[in-house]
Amino acid sequence: MYRIKRLIQVTAPCYLCGKPSVLEGLCADCFNDGHPLIEVSTPLTLLACKKCGSIKLTDGWKKIAGDGIHHDDVGDVQIELLLERSIKILGKDVQITLEDERKLDRVTHTILTATGRSHESLAPHDEKYNVEIRFRYGTCETCGLMSGGYYEAILQVRADGRELTDDEKTALTQTVTDITVARYKSDDKAFITSTIDDRYGIDFYVGSENLCKYLADEFEMQYLAERKDNYKLVGEEKGGKRKYRITILIRLPRFTVGDFVKINDNPCEIVAMGRNMLTCYDLKQRERFSINPRSARWRTLEFLAPQSSRREFMITTFSYGQPVQMMDSVNFEVVEVEQSLFDSEITIGDKIYALQLDEELYILTKPSQFNG
Ligand SMILES: [Zn+2]
Ligand SMILES: [Zn+2]
Repeated sequence: MYRIKRLIQVTAPCYLCGKPSVLEGLCADCFNDGHPLIEVSTPLTLLACKKCGSIKLTDGWKKIAGDGIHHDDVGDVQIELLLERSIKILGKDVQITLEDERKLDRVTHTILTATGRSHESLAPHDEKYNVEIRFRYGTCETCGLMSGGYYEAILQVRADGRELTDDEKTALTQTVTDITVARYKSDDKAFITSTIDDRYGIDFYVGSENLCKYLADEFEMQYLAERKDNYKLVGEEKGGKRKYRITILIRLPRFTVGDFVKINDNPCEIVAMGRNMLTCYDLKQRERFSINPRSARWRTLEFLAPQSSRREFMITTFSYGQPVQMMDSVNFEVVEVEQSLFDSEITIGDKIYALQLDEELYILTKPSQFNG
């Protein structure tokens, strides 16, 4: 008898609806109703930059670009970011899914489904919320600075004793673009205001001094370039503090891959360059080696000749134990050279490059020799 009485007491009815109660005198449904999983207000205003799609949140402009987001999805990403900040989670193990119900020009109605538990002893359930999002458009700080021509630093790229080649200009511009995009999320002023490309070289007007220095470090290392930082006084701030603007000059070496230099008085062909390392082929010693700008040998380096000064030959006569005969492709002069000067297998008809220095003819490596 006692047992039965207890059972009846436990299953006392929900004081709101009369169904059996499970928690705090309420059934699960009534408990859930009084304890929502989330709190979100509606309508919400979304202020977006019309140029770049950044959105304004309580702690400032939040960028969404730079993640390879397709243009059509920008609105969805903006809404997700805004809701992420606007939803207050109250329940346990809450997950949220979004569904656009209606999209108008400046208003989107979103159905938000929250799944979770209002109390750990209860089973998970779904709650639906209709949220209206009103779009407003403006200009973010970054786009405002950029359109106003703002820049903190200038990066000038030149080459030593020659003009920059078109290939170099293309590669430099690509690197500037890639690094700027990569740093845009963490640096509000990571943008290039303008680029001046003329016969002297390229000047990049850089929004942030940090970015400019980073780019300069990169080029210095990649191209084994010389670097000069110049600070120029541009005015005084309020209170008399002097204001400087930095210009960084990056001077690419006279030589590039394929050109000839003298190192320790030996003629060398440049095989590869980059990351603080120059890889050369010593035409006298017939060996490959690497040097970096801090090594003692680097100071002996002199420009010798551009790649275009090499001569092209075709092997015309070749038999073991005999000198090799080859013919200049331009003036048809036939020359004889010792077989031992060739590092790789040759056959009649092969195209060979050689560099003539004074009376000496140096056979160059085949381009394929260094690949792989
Ligand atoms: Zn109830
Ligand atoms: Zn913007």
